[in-house]
Amino acid sequence: MLEQNASHFGARAALLSDGDEPLSHQQLWNQVAVTVTALISLGVGRGDRVAIVLPQGQDLAVTFLAVAAGATAAPLNPAYVEKEFLFYMEDLQARALIVPRDSDSPARAVADSLGVPVIELIPGENGVGRFHLSGVSRPLAASAGFAEADDVALVLHTSGTTSRPKMVPLTHANLLAAARHIGATLQLQPTDRCLNVMPLFHIHGLVACVLASLGAGGSTVCTRAFDAERFPGWLEQWKPSWYSAVPTMHQAILAQGQAPPIQPVRSSLRFIRSSSAALPPPVMTGLEETFGVPVIESYGMTEAAHQMASNPLPPRARKPGSVGLATGLEVAILDEAGETLASGRTGEVAIRGPNVTCGYANNPEANATAFCRGWFRTGDQGHLDGEGYLFITGRLKELINRGGEKIAPREIDEVLLAYPGVQQAVAFAVPHPSLGEDIAAAVVLNNGAVACEAVLREFALDRLPTFKVPSRIIFVNDVPKGGTGKIQRIGLADRLATALGVAYEAPASDTERLVAATICEVLNCEKVGRNDNFFSLGGNSLRATQVLTRLGQSLGFQIPVPTIFRCPTPALLANKLDLMQEPEIDALAAELEKLPPEERARMLNDL
Ligand code: AMP
Repeated sequence: MLEQNASHFGARAALLSDGDEPLSHQQLWNQVAVTVTALISLGVGRGDRVAIVLPQGQDLAVTFLAVAAGATAAPLNPAYVEKEFLFYMEDLQARALIVPRDSDSPARAVADSLGVPVIELIPGENGVGRFHLSGVSRPLAASAGFAEADDVALVLHTSGTTSRPKMVPLTHANLLAAARHIGATLQLQPTDRCLNVMPLFHIHGLVACVLASLGAGGSTVCTRAFDAERFPGWLEQWKPSWYSAVPTMHQAILAQGQAPPIQPVRSSLRFIRSSSAALPPPVMTGLEETFGVPVIESYGMTEAAHQMASNPLPPRARKPGSVGLATGLEVAILDEAGETLASGRTGEVAIRGPNVTCGYANNPEANATAFCRGWFRTGDQGHLDGEGYLFITGRLKELINRGGEKIAPREIDEVLLAYPGVQQAVAFAVPHPSLGEDIAAAVVLNNGAVACEAVLREFALDRLPTFKVPSRIIFVNDVPKGGTGKIQRIGLADRLATALGVAYEAPASDTERLVAATICEVLNCEKVGRNDNFFSLGGNSLRATQVLTRLGQSLGFQIPVPTIFRCPTPALLANKLDLMQEPEIDALAAELEKLPPEERARMLNDL
């Protein structure tokens, strides 16, 4: 592909980056050819896995292309610590490691300890993207030369949040099929220019932003790292026709220019692409209003060399909340037995087609579970609508099992995100003494926005069945993310343990003491603090009725059962009970009940 591009698009820009002359398609091909020759003299040939630990940017893009052309590229996150490098380099059985000249990355010491030869990348006189490789010469590699279609071009590991990361080999045929499908979906042309903000150790950046763009004869601007503050300047400077990112990046971009009413930014963009995680519909709307261009949500995964489905460009319909139509491969929904389900029915998303990996490396057990009658099971749950649009409802491993009820956390995220001022919302499982798992949610607010746990729970209670309402909602400045900028729901309870842990605070008023003592009696626990959540302590609806009946007897009036769902801590419940004893407040509460839910929540917030 690169060779053909050199003859078709010769002097047109292929890769661009700050402070350097653009690298043309011809120059890119020359650099790739020179690098393949250098690798051969360093003893690296076809099929040899080469770990690449370089900072983000054009050199990394070129190194990925060149190593793939003559060996197998294994780009690793440069932020890994020594232990991680040791795991990945051992698992890869790396034939060599490429690092920048004078790099002090721990990867270097790990390579030395494993006896893996280190190759240094020395920048050329003419700037980025023009470099040479330096290392100890070795006997020529056995299978030296340019790779062919079925050679493995790239290996990446799955994120491995619940198990050991799995190695995904992708051939040249896989990568080019994916690149072509993306090019066709987005109608990419030689005149298109992508602004790449995605890390180039993730499939999204490598295939959508670099390969799909080059495959169409277009160009890609290689930034050094995503930076929401610099984003408007990049649009000015590079005049890209598109960019692709994960939803958290889009959210950060939107958060830069929050003050409504939003004025559409006049830019060179033709469309915006989002992939690799669910794009909340309000973010999609916000982006379209801000930039005045269509937002195309796509569905990708490493095992499919990235794209599996995508919403089409206008005039065809893009459906918010859907990841669109299958692109160049087949998508089916399977039940547990592997039977195909009809449209409208929910099951596991399965794929087969030219961009899907042949199987995890050295992992027969994982392959036995993942492949079923030629289908690859994605581990995602979803359904197709009558027009073939795919809706992802969650990842099977992320479902929260609350006392036997299986809850897809995305539905909760979407409700919380609909509250004014909520920028990010992530529901996740926390351990629970009797239910097994309970639901918590972490929320990031826009600058200057105000909300409290009680108001958000109230808002959620109006829109979700009670068992899906998070027992705890915590406010954080940022939700922890993985190296690719994606939120990793699994393990969030551990990572947010400090924020989740509520220090014991003794009940502070007579009513709070009464409520706490009643909860203690019913749940048979030693002490209950004023901020302890009744449901997190093991409470359920039956126990809730007992607590309210006993409290009603002590106070001399009936308390409706939903009260405890809305006010699950002694502090909140006591406050509510005090209010219920004051007639004028009763009248105000009755007025509030008549208001539409959003207005009520806003009024409660103001109060
Ligand atoms: P990765 O291999 O890192 O690209 O992650 C792939 C996973 O990301 C998929 O299996 C899905 O669970 C998730 N994913 C990718 N794109 C989307 C999307 N548009 N909506 C929802 N989940 C997505």
